[in-house]
Amino acid sequence: MSASPADLVREFHRAFGLDARDTPAEVAPELAAHRGELLAEEAREVAEVSVTGPLDRLAHELADVVYVAYGTALVHGIDLDAVIAEIHRSNMTKRGPGGRVSRRADGKVLKGEHYEAPDVSRVLREQGWAPGREA
Ligand SMILES: [Mg+2]
Repeated sequence: MSASPADLVREFHRAFGLDARDTPAEVAPELAAHRGELLAEEAREVAEVSVTGPLDRLAHELADVVYVAYGTALVHGIDLDAVIAEIHRSNMTKRGPGGRVSRRADGKVLKGEHYEAPDVSRVLREQGWAPGREA
């Protein structure tokens, strides 16, 4: 797939008359809550099939999570690709001296001494976010 999910989800929102914004902004609480519920529902479906599968169902539900997450970003006017790039930049700084990687017992990668936290606020401000302003 060459297109970002952002492009596909924008097409979906346009086709079905769903909310879409071009600039990051807080939205009405009812809409924000609705988007949160949609995402929680999809996340629950991932949890349900994570162990039992089958694999095609897991793939489906994972894609639903991403699709709904991109949709929620679009509703809030967030360019999620740019945010993911910032999260990735930060995650890559988790390597310690000499590229050493430390892990928790369950395998999660831990933050090394050169770790830089993501600055999501900066990314959103670059997209035109003015905190406190409503759409
Ligand atoms: Mg689903």
